[in-house]
Amino acid sequence: MQRYLDIAVPTPLRRSFHYLPPPDFPANIQPGSRIRVPFRNKKVTGILLGYVDSIATDKHKIKPAEELLDTAPIVPETLCKLCIWAADYYHHPIGEVFAAALPNLLRRGDSPEDLQFVLTARGQETELKPRAHRQRAMIDLLSQNPQGLSRDELGEFSSAIIHSLIDKELVTKEIVSQQPFSHTRTNYQGIQPTGEQNDAIEAINSPGTYLLQGVTGSGKTEVYLRLIERMLDQGLQSLVLVPEIGLTPQTLKRFETRFDVTITVVHSGLTETERLRSWQQARTGQAGIVIGTRSAVFTPFAKPGLIIVDEEHDASFKQHEGFKYSARDLAVLRASWDKAPILLGSATPSLESLHNAISGKYTHLQLRKRPAGIAQETYQVISLKHKEPDTGFSPPLLKLMRQHLDAKGQILIFLNRRGFAPVLLCTKCHWMANCPRCDARMTYHLSSRRLICHHCTSESSVPQHCAQCQSSQLLLLGLGTQRIEEHLKLTFDDVPVLRIDRDSTRRKGSFDKLLDEINRQDPAILIGTQMLAKGHHFSNVTLSVMLEVDSSFYSADYKAMERMGQLILQVGGRSGRSEKPGTVVIQTHFPDQPLLKQLIDEGYNTFADTILSERRDNGLPPYCHQALVRAESTSRRLAMDFLEELEGANNPHVDVFGPFPSSMEKRAGRYRALLMISSQSRQSLHKELKEKILTAESSILGKKLRWSVDIDPIDLF
Ligand code: ADP
Ligand code: ZN
Ligand code: ZN
Repeated sequence: MQRYLDIAVPTPLRRSFHYLPPPDFPANIQPGSRIRVPFRNKKVTGILLGYVDSIATDKHKIKPAEELLDTAPIVPETLCKLCIWAADYYHHPIGEVFAAALPNLLRRGDSPEDLQFVLTARGQETELKPRAHRQRAMIDLLSQNPQGLSRDELGEFSSAIIHSLIDKELVTKEIVSQQPFSHTRTNYQGIQPTGEQNDAIEAINSPGTYLLQGVTGSGKTEVYLRLIERMLDQGLQSLVLVPEIGLTPQTLKRFETRFDVTITVVHSGLTETERLRSWQQARTGQAGIVIGTRSAVFTPFAKPGLIIVDEEHDASFKQHEGFKYSARDLAVLRASWDKAPILLGSATPSLESLHNAISGKYTHLQLRKRPAGIAQETYQVISLKHKEPDTGFSPPLLKLMRQHLDAKGQILIFLNRRGFAPVLLCTKCHWMANCPRCDARMTYHLSSRRLICHHCTSESSVPQHCAQCQSSQLLLLGLGTQRIEEHLKLTFDDVPVLRIDRDSTRRKGSFDKLLDEINRQDPAILIGTQMLAKGHHFSNVTLSVMLEVDSSFYSADYKAMERMGQLILQVGGRSGRSEKPGTVVIQTHFPDQPLLKQLIDEGYNTFADTILSERRDNGLPPYCHQALVRAESTSRRLAMDFLEELEGANNPHVDVFGPFPSSMEKRAGRYRALLMISSQSRQSLHKELKEKILTAESSILGKKLRWSVDIDPIDLF
């Protein structure tokens, strides 16, 4: 009987494709092997998913595959399963899922093995040396290194040169055999775990999902390190997932000084060769530890032992564009298939994880105190009720800042808005400078003296007159990091004021320079955005200030309060890491906001309980499951008309809301609209969504615009 190959082909279609096996196709090729196939007049690299005996399409239309690239699968079984599962769950084209999971070089046909280049016997004969200067130079280099050189070490030579020497049979490729890591017990004596840390370390002794909730500075990392060590002792590898900006040199150093094994790092800044290299090190078992951001969840392991997701509440674990997966959620699934324990760590767990811990699905472990000798921070609310300070800083706050500077401490001011001022207003007619391409205001930047849109990067010069009434009475309103920097430099002219945001750290090395200055521990004021709120430890920061938290108290986004609570505690946790106690100040117009009070007086768990019960009453996640269909088009009408074709639910257990325009409807010249689908049953939700996707795929309007599906969305813009 004829067998057909079922292949994931890199294309934006939500299906796999069938091919005939090429001539001489071996009988027992396993799924997960790469295979070249013809696709729409091109040759592309697909992944073998399996075999089928019968097909629905006309047999004569089925083409033979071109060439098998691997005789053994390069994607291990669990990873293959994970990609197939993710394509189904996120309703994303399977070919694109595999493309996201694999290093680019593998998709282009590079070897999954670690290769090195050596001279052949022919290449060693001097009289055969090629004339071309660069080719001769490479031969000379290889003859000085008879053991062979890797592609990295041959970096100065182009692929064309290498290939021409291989074609002339002067040079050949060899597979470098990689040894699994070996770990000698370090018998680390530095830190003695506290009772709570020990309880956590003991508890994590079998497969399962563990939520480690530990206040900032309570020593979660020490728990991670002990567990990783235990894995290394058993010859098992660990994967540590960190948020996009959480992978600081400090974090890495802590791992490197503790263990004598290869630690490989995976993040978006790697070159393609580096990415392939870390993939190889993990797959062959050479690396004992892999630390990486989101996409590292797809790293293959020879001996998977443990997964850790640090700061598991962080939004950057969810990809926002294209294949919108949650690395945290996939990690939980992957660990269960690998029969490995997975540890989700955070001071401020996401409400989904907390809900899973409360319901007993996850094991809940807590570190309630910082180790002895490390002071806990205290929280204080400063009311702006009576007076709006035009500079952003109320008199009591300025006084407190002076006290901390006099006591030789550092101050961290958190404001998540870069630029000078977010609004340019005409005081006569109330016209505001808006972005022509977005429903958003332009932000004034001091350094360039220009208006910049933070949503589409449009720029313009600053108008001298109002565009509507020609008045010259224009006013810059609101606070950005540049404005408070200017102001604080005047007010506190005896200490350095350091601004750390995307603008001030754009040049290579500038961020490190700022960190060096902070680490000198001299009194200083640090002004930072999100960049500074995560991962870093500043041991001499004794005062942290949150300037603008009020917008989340009346936001339309139901997740705004959860995020604000997490941010307050995360920023607060940056301070008081040493013996000096830290103070955290929240300046607000709403000092009596009940959730804010609860967070500060009773702590994160009570705060989270209140939000969870509100969510339960309103039927919001985690008490229901959500999916969004998004559409965007240069025509406002088209985006809405298309989604109207999908409105309504066929299933009584599913609710469909909308379509409605996004809260920022126009962005970068496109109008955006949403359809929200929600259900208490995942199964019903996915069934309904599948039907909608079929409708969308056959819609004529759907071909005229961009649309996408987002499962478990975390922002509803
Ligand atoms: P977290 O990751 O929970 O924010 P860290 O693991 O970074 O906290 O620990 C905070 C600080 O406490 C670090 O300087 C760490 O060296 C120290 N520390 C952790 N555990 C202990 C312990 N058992 N005894 C003393 N100091 C500890
Ligand atoms: Zn005007
Ligand atoms: Zn814009």
